Amino acid sequence: MIAGHFGFAALVKSRERQAPLWALMLATVWLDIVFVPLFLAGIETIEPVPGTHGGYGAGIIHADYTHSLVGALFLSAVLGIAFGTRWGQRTGVVLGFVSFSHWLLDLIVHRHDIPVLPGNVGQLPKLGFGLWQLPWAAVSAEFALVSAGAWFYWRAARSVSLAAGMPQRRAAVVSLMIWVGGLLVLAFDVTGILG
Ligand SMILES: [Zn+2]
Repeated sequence: MIAGHFGFAALVKSRERQAPLWALMLATVWLDIVFVPLFLAGIETIEPVPGTHGGYGAGIIHADYTHSLVGALFLSAVLGIAFGTRWGQRTGVVLGFVSFSHWLLDLIVHRHDIPVLPGNVGQLPKLGFGLWQLPWAAVSAEFALVSAGAWFYWRAARSVSLAAGMPQRRAAVVSLMIWVGGLLVLAFDVTGILG
């Protein structure tokens, strides 16, 4: 899941206007950003689901540090504190929460590959509700998140420009960019262009 995370970030922006959109977008994929160097180093890996060639939703993801429950809480706290010292406590808490929302959304789609403790210490039962077993349902959920995010962003941005007596064209253009951009990311993800 990639697009769905961005959709959720846009949704939060419509409520928490003081938080910069770019920081929300960064926070929403923060766990995946930290995943990239660990993936390149071979510490975290993706293995295709047996009997498939991988692709959308067909991976067992061994992100045992970045996507473990405790690891995700830790990384989200680090991000929240870093932004909080810059933009104040409320924005820091919002960004930390958005970062952790990544874990919650991944929990819905992942196939029982999310450990509780970093490195799967203690071999506790792994988590993940496995919505990716029904790819059409996962794609629909991502589509809904992106659409809801763009819609609520547009409503919030429109009321801001209305109150300021400014033209509403910019609100419409940015919302449309969020929607189209999100759907493009989703299309790339589904067709395997994003790996
Ligand atoms: Zn992830």
